[in-house]
Amino acid sequence: MDLLHTQLSNIQRQLAFISTDPINWKLYVQAFSWTVTLFESYLVLRQYPLYSKTEPPTVLASHFNPEVFKKSQSYGKDKAIFALVSGLLKQCLDSALLQFGFYAWSWGASGRLLSSLGYGPEYEILQSIGFVFILFFLSSIPTLPLSIYGTFVLEEKHGFNKTTPSLFVIDLLKGWGLAFVLGSPFLAAFLYIFKWAGDRFVPWLMAFMISFQLIMVIVYPTVIQPMFNKLSPLAPGDLRNRIESLAKKLKFPLKYLYEIDGSKRSSHSNAYFFGLPWSKHIVIFDTLIQQSKSEEVEAVLAHELGHWYYLHPTKMMAVSQLHIFTILALFPAFLRAPPLLRSFDFPKDVAAQPPTIVAFLLFQMILTPLEAVVSIGMNAISRHFEYEADKFACELQDKLQSEDMKDMGDRLGRALIALHVKNLSTVWVDWLYSAYHHSHPTLTERLRGLESFQALREKKKL
Ligand SMILES: [Zn+2]
Repeated sequence: MDLLHTQLSNIQRQLAFISTDPINWKLYVQAFSWTVTLFESYLVLRQYPLYSKTEPPTVLASHFNPEVFKKSQSYGKDKAIFALVSGLLKQCLDSALLQFGFYAWSWGASGRLLSSLGYGPEYEILQSIGFVFILFFLSSIPTLPLSIYGTFVLEEKHGFNKTTPSLFVIDLLKGWGLAFVLGSPFLAAFLYIFKWAGDRFVPWLMAFMISFQLIMVIVYPTVIQPMFNKLSPLAPGDLRNRIESLAKKLKFPLKYLYEIDGSKRSSHSNAYFFGLPWSKHIVIFDTLIQQSKSEEVEAVLAHELGHWYYLHPTKMMAVSQLHIFTILALFPAFLRAPPLLRSFDFPKDVAAQPPTIVAFLLFQMILTPLEAVVSIGMNAISRHFEYEADKFACELQDKLQSEDMKDMGDRLGRALIALHVKNLSTVWVDWLYSAYHHSHPTLTERLRGLESFQALREKKKL
């Protein structure tokens, strides 16, 4: 532990200039965030012409009839324009808020609100919670029309929207309520640890974040998800038998097997698993069950269990812990830096003793470019995991010595194609766009992968 703290204080010494030098951080953040937004817009412009292609890639030609392909291209086109416009609008808004001192104003507003209730500035944690909620509400309201447009115009036009206006409002209110109920104690504990642990907050905060994630693993499926969706046990029958027997053969600790009414909001479809190491839940969208044959849904589950078999969620969590650790290790240099707050228009008295939440928020903005790089890396890891899980499904026949699984790769391929066709997903993808945005390989890449895994295992057998 002492070694850790020596290393951490070395980093702080290197970064000591932040607490003394008047750097124009606001300008940096403006420049950084515009660079990221313009880069993302450039990616959309690279991708856009591909939506004008009139034929699908040759491997997919037999699966897309011309009409479905045309539909998928026009859906992609509409989504691209929406992404471009909403990305730029959000950036203009963020940039204006930043320029005109919105963050400093929100801090002051929260302070005034609390003092009218009889709480002075010594209640920093309370003021921080108020601050975060003022920021959250005021900055989310202007983007609400975008989300309404996305659901009721864009998705509606292409036949995916199942949300009614009242469901939309209820979801929104539930989401806000939940953010408040979960967010406030989380934030309070987070800030309390800073105060309590002083300079040695890094390991404590890491332990806290990990515990929080583990608690969420239990709370999410049992409390939160049922607030939005109805989960019902998967009906007995062929599909249930297939999944239970697959789980048993792989020693997957399947505790609950649910069907979820994903179709309540949208007809996009999927399947996933989660839970503690000894007790797992599998959830399948009703739309997937309706769209695919049970042997194909089984193949999708075989892929999902591949993620479990190779510990992908655990590995992802380890990577994200490393990411959090890096952020926390750099943070102290920004924690007691009056010039940082001054450059974002905070008054002198607030900047003299920077509130932790304010410093953390500004620090997060400064990290924007780093975060963009991290997300590219995370996507690359995730795509690698997808291939691994596909390979797992192809090799199940050997792993389980089970002749009736020899076509698992084909079944998975068929299920993926069906999912793609039903979701009208894009089939032509620009490589740079994909590297930046996609956590999954494209359909063409995955089908090619499935073929080569199959060929590889046959070669091994000879
Ligand atoms: Zn996957």
